[in-house]
Amino acid sequence: MRVAVLGSTGSIGTQTLDVIAAHPERFRAVALAAARSETLLREQADRFGVTRICLSDGRMQGALSGPQGLVELATDPEVDLVVVATTGAAGWEPTLAAIRAGKQVALANKEALVMAGSIIAVEARKMGAVLRPVDSEHSAIWQCIQGEGVADSHLMAPRDISKLILTASGGPFRDTPKEDLEQVTPRQALAHPTWNMGAKVTIDSATLMNKGLEVIEAHWLFDMPYERLEVVVHPQSIVHSMVEFEDGSTKAQLGVPDMRVPIQYALGYPDHLPYAELPRLDWSQTLELRFQPPELERFPCLRLAWEAGRQGGTYPTVLSAADEEAVAAFLRDEIGFMDIPRLVEKALEAHENVPDPDFDVIRAIDTQTRARVCEWAGIARATTLTERA
Ligand code: MG
Repeated sequence: MRVAVLGSTGSIGTQTLDVIAAHPERFRAVALAAARSETLLREQADRFGVTRICLSDGRMQGALSGPQGLVELATDPEVDLVVVATTGAAGWEPTLAAIRAGKQVALANKEALVMAGSIIAVEARKMGAVLRPVDSEHSAIWQCIQGEGVADSHLMAPRDISKLILTASGGPFRDTPKEDLEQVTPRQALAHPTWNMGAKVTIDSATLMNKGLEVIEAHWLFDMPYERLEVVVHPQSIVHSMVEFEDGSTKAQLGVPDMRVPIQYALGYPDHLPYAELPRLDWSQTLELRFQPPELERFPCLRLAWEAGRQGGTYPTVLSAADEEAVAAFLRDEIGFMDIPRLVEKALEAHENVPDPDFDVIRAIDTQTRARVCEWAGIARATTLTERA
């Protein structure tokens, strides 16, 4: 299978290349794209013998550039499967282009489904395209529903499923009192207890916004109404998510937290390919698993995401755009940790919904939201969609 990796220099991208390197008989990297990391992109291209490359956020000799470069790689006739591992809004246009070009799509970009889920999920169903989730939670659900009655089960969860239960580690501040959360520093927030990930998603894990975004993604990926989605805090991150059936029977997918497992499943679906390096659960040791309901009062981002998802239209776009700017400002030490939910809530309250938005509307709302958040937070200026792509 010939693979394009969009976002090849990030956390998911580099691990995707590890998986590809472990199975030379099955996968071949044929296209690579990065936003800014020119040196690493060059190294990867040399190592994997890739000539189709794109530096989307800059210029590089012999490489494509800009958002159009990502779309070109995603639709290249020599590509069978596109891994969309770019961060932010840069992911949704190549995702849609790949679906329309009849490619297999492994989706690691959250914003694509959060901001443009109504367009992308509908288009995928229309095209009969398989959206392969890369995120560990959605991969777990996908694995749990295999053999449960429908062929393209992730396009629509089987009818006898009553609930999808997403697990959340709870992040580094799971047990931190509410008043102490105000004083949290970026360094503390970046120290995730169980997962090793990029900065944006690590902060989102600490606020539980990440789980909220995953709820919205699950809604679109599995065509599941919000009232049948549940979140449970599970500090060990061993159970990656669960599916409850109409008879109360519940299936879970377990494993040592390592993103290469869901990445490899997305690439090798429906096979669980051998990979000796991947860690295994050690059943000779005592293993305790704990589950507890999330505290929405201490982690308002989860509640806000839920509300935005339920309201639909452009509310999830506002949620995502406001969060991205707020998290960037927090990482630059310009605002406090609890200002993140405050700014997101303010943006949602100030927003007037547009039902069934197209890309132009989504783009406009995205830009407007970022500008608002930056103004409220006293940040000089927001980045625009084109600059980030
Ligand atoms: Mg996840």
